[in-house]
Amino acid sequence: MIRAAEACACPIEEVGPAMAVSCPGQFLLFMSILESFINGRCDLADPCNRIKSRDQLDDSYDFVVVGGGTAGAVVAARLSENPQWKVLLLEAGGDEPIQSAVPSWVTAYWGRNDTDWRYYTEPQEKACLANGGICSWPRGKMLGGCSVINGMMYMRGHAADYDGWAVNGAEGWSWFDVLPHFLKSEDNKEIGSGVSSQYHTTGGLMPVQKFRYAPQFAHDVVSAAIELGYPPTSDLNGETITGFTIAQAMNDGGSRYSSARAFLRPAAHRENLHVLLNAMGSRVIIDPLEKKVTAVEYIKNGETKTVEVIKEAILSAGTLNSPQILLLSGVGPRETLDKFNIPTIQELPGVGQNLQNHVGVQLSFRLTKEPDVPVLNWATAMEYMLNRMGPMSGTGMSQLTGIVNSRYAPSGGRHPDIQFFFGGYYATCGDGVVPDDVKVKEITDKKEISISAISLHPRSRGYLTLQSVDPTQPPLMQPNYFYDEHELDVLVEAAQIAYKLANTTIMREKYGMTPTEGYGSECEGGGLSPTPEFFRCLAQHQTAPENHQVGTCKMGPRTDPMAVVDMQLRVHGIKGLRVADASIMPTVPSGNTAAPTIMIAERAAEFVTTRYQQAKRTPAELGNRFGHPSDSSANNENRPGGFGTYSQENKDDKLTDNETNKNHQWDQRWKPWDKNWHGWHEWQNKANSDWHKNNPQERSQRYYD
Ligand SMILES: Cc1cc2nc3c(=O)[nH]c(=O)nc-3n(C[C@H](O)[C@H](O)[C@H](O)COP(=O)(O)OP(=O)(O)OC[C@H]3O[C@@H](n4cnc5c(N)ncnc54)[C@H](O)[C@@H]3O)c2cc1C
Repeated sequence: MIRAAEACACPIEEVGPAMAVSCPGQFLLFMSILESFINGRCDLADPCNRIKSRDQLDDSYDFVVVGGGTAGAVVAARLSENPQWKVLLLEAGGDEPIQSAVPSWVTAYWGRNDTDWRYYTEPQEKACLANGGICSWPRGKMLGGCSVINGMMYMRGHAADYDGWAVNGAEGWSWFDVLPHFLKSEDNKEIGSGVSSQYHTTGGLMPVQKFRYAPQFAHDVVSAAIELGYPPTSDLNGETITGFTIAQAMNDGGSRYSSARAFLRPAAHRENLHVLLNAMGSRVIIDPLEKKVTAVEYIKNGETKTVEVIKEAILSAGTLNSPQILLLSGVGPRETLDKFNIPTIQELPGVGQNLQNHVGVQLSFRLTKEPDVPVLNWATAMEYMLNRMGPMSGTGMSQLTGIVNSRYAPSGGRHPDIQFFFGGYYATCGDGVVPDDVKVKEITDKKEISISAISLHPRSRGYLTLQSVDPTQPPLMQPNYFYDEHELDVLVEAAQIAYKLANTTIMREKYGMTPTEGYGSECEGGGLSPTPEFFRCLAQHQTAPENHQVGTCKMGPRTDPMAVVDMQLRVHGIKGLRVADASIMPTVPSGNTAAPTIMIAERAAEFVTTRYQQAKRTPAELGNRFGHPSDSSANNENRPGGFGTYSQENKDDKLTDNETNKNHQWDQRWKPWDKNWHGWHEWQNKANSDWHKNNPQERSQRYYD
């Protein structure tokens, strides 16, 4: 039963390109029908809250945010909470397609020119050899950026990651400092059922919870890991940070929440927030004498235009584009700028350097007792169409993850260095047919699943630079995968763990799990018990390059010659310019990077807000600068991150030593997690004393609570 489009409060407009064409030909009819159904649902299309691109811009804005991705959507939404500020968000792509809200269609927008930057690395000597050494790096090119094409997994990384940042110069970014900002955006729907209020909170703009559906096989892998001796955990962001679990994800009501959906759409009707889609920021224009940003240059419909910046420009174009924009603006290593005849405004050798990414080996297994029946059919589609349940409401095996220590991990166990990701059981494409039992028995193909074993603490460092002064050309990306062989050492051990997992009783007896025959035949020493050399070779051929690129606009003090931004994310030496996205991370955290990026964006907005403190005014006093004095967002004294008590505007643009401390005081006025915060200290003591106990029996019972 296909239902007609619903009558929503606002008419539904089809947004973004169709997804059905990304499925192979035989699936097209069924997928097109399904897609037209999805397009007509109010909860998925969300027509009343969609962001409208402006036809006309004002000449100037207080803040111009370049890049409306994971971080940029948050920054623009937060800054526009102040109705006195005019904010412009420039995004190179369009709005997020309606179908991207369906969790199981996670890969539908990869590899397409209209929704993915389709970046590729320089040829690698030791990685991605099965693809001629070229690794593919998908990046979301639309409002929400990578948060529209990612797996939605909600991982924060570990306390040791952030403490490491702080110890190495990023003062004010220790775990103690960043945790409140993770919590600020979080609306965790499962507190008390799998996750604890000691680590999570409610009330933020991003809904976080497990998907409504996970394949039985994913649950069984968790059991297999317990059989291997890994501690049961229902929350790798909680007390037990190692083990395997079905992770929480950024979703609600059976659909994806990108950062644009969570943060920007609630701000869609603010008149002080202008969004220009399909507009590529090409340069920041900086007065060379004052070294102050005056305007942002952008390209729209082939025309180059500028918009004046009154207070600040904020680059949120991501790890691969924010440094590109800096270089094009004359900020970066002098030799690069000279090579491309770009006048040097500020020499910053670190721009584009320190490129880091997680890297892994992709393993392939067959489940010889599971016929390869497509997961997506009429029955499973109906579950989603009627109730937003079933396989379409999840990401198959991708929602499962595991984090463990290799023997190379720092002692103490609080900074594990291997993560596992899984692939398979996807409800992406199908032809609708529900096979009966007889047909299923006739199917001879067996299910294939993949395990990517990832090194979380890579030592190899790459770089990014220009290959052209044309801003529409991609930058040159050199990750130098496996330049430091440490990653290969870790991956050998990680792959051995994956093989042990496949050989547990439940995996063997229930699923007949076995390494895929012929996979990795380019490497010697394979088979059921491969040699370490086989895994080293496999990692270099079947590389899992991950999508957690960070570090190209590294945060650090002025004394660090490679630092690009200071601890308030201001570009060193330039007034009125910040970078707020994954590029500022000094090192990649031990986990997925979307939640840390949102945390960074939250902090960036708070730094800006604190810097330009406004006098407290009543909504009536706020004046009519934007023609709507009673915008409800003006009256937000009690809202998290809102602004209630401000002193007069701070004229001093210098870094003040205790600004970070001021932020903390400010946070404490609104933060709703005081209870948890105190719990945190208790936990720290408890966790440390409990660490070696590891009683699987007791923990196993707790896991199923
Ligand atoms: C396929 C994939 C799967 C992933 N899975 C997960 C996961 O499950 N969990 C997780 O935590 N992390 C995951 N990640 C990583 C995570 O999504 C990213 O680290 C994070 O989203 C990066 O955010 P960002 O704001 O730095 O960049 P982006 O989200 O990429 O935002 C950059 C934005 O800027 C725009 N832009 C770029 N250049 C310009 C320009 N010149 N002018 C205007 N706009 C511009 C882009 O179009 C984009 O919208 C995944 C990433 C990918 C690609």
